[in-house]
Amino acid sequence: MGRYIGSVCRLCRREGNKLFLKGSRCYTEKCAIERRNYAPGQHGQARPRISEYQTQLREKQKLKRIYGLLERQFRGYFEKAARKKGITGEILLQFLERRIDNIVYRMGFCSSRKGARQMVNHGHFRVNGRKVDAASFLVKVGDVIELKPSSRESAQIQAWLTEAEGRGIPQWLELDKSNFKGRIKAIPSKEELEMPVNEQLVVELYSR
Ligand code: SF4
Repeated sequence: MGRYIGSVCRLCRREGNKLFLKGSRCYTEKCAIERRNYAPGQHGQARPRISEYQTQLREKQKLKRIYGLLERQFRGYFEKAARKKGITGEILLQFLERRIDNIVYRMGFCSSRKGARQMVNHGHFRVNGRKVDAASFLVKVGDVIELKPSSRESAQIQAWLTEAEGRGIPQWLELDKSNFKGRIKAIPSKEELEMPVNEQLVVELYSR
């Protein structure tokens, strides 16, 4: 199956949550969830009975959509998480958070994960001084992410950084805005992530 190219706001409305897929617009009253918080389509406002399976499926879809992953990639992260010691759901979230496209987004170099992925793929970032152009690259504690010098003049990136700084950078990351670099201070706990997802239901879905 290919990548979804329809309206991303429909995805948020389908899940009934803000998934922050559209950049700066997500933080304004123009957000579709603020204006029409019901599922898209003709029967969007109906309230059908939801089975346990559907509840689990929706949580999985939500998480996949937040990080912009296809089923095969997402399943791969789940299987890696399941092989590790600890709480599978939390480890899954940590794997997803460690992706460099997510870190670029969280640090504020871009206003959406999708945009951040494109920037990484185009080679705008270095990790510990080395160019990284794979969005799936997983960062570690202590890694330093840096925007390459020739991209630092971009007024758009500077505006995104200022916007993100205003909203606040997560505690587990450190940003040195004037030098266009940031550091991973820690791997976040589930509580620090404050995701609108019950990851335990994703584990239950895949354990069926
Ligand atoms: Fe989702 Fe952002 Fe669209 Fe709001 S504006 S519905 S958060 S993608």
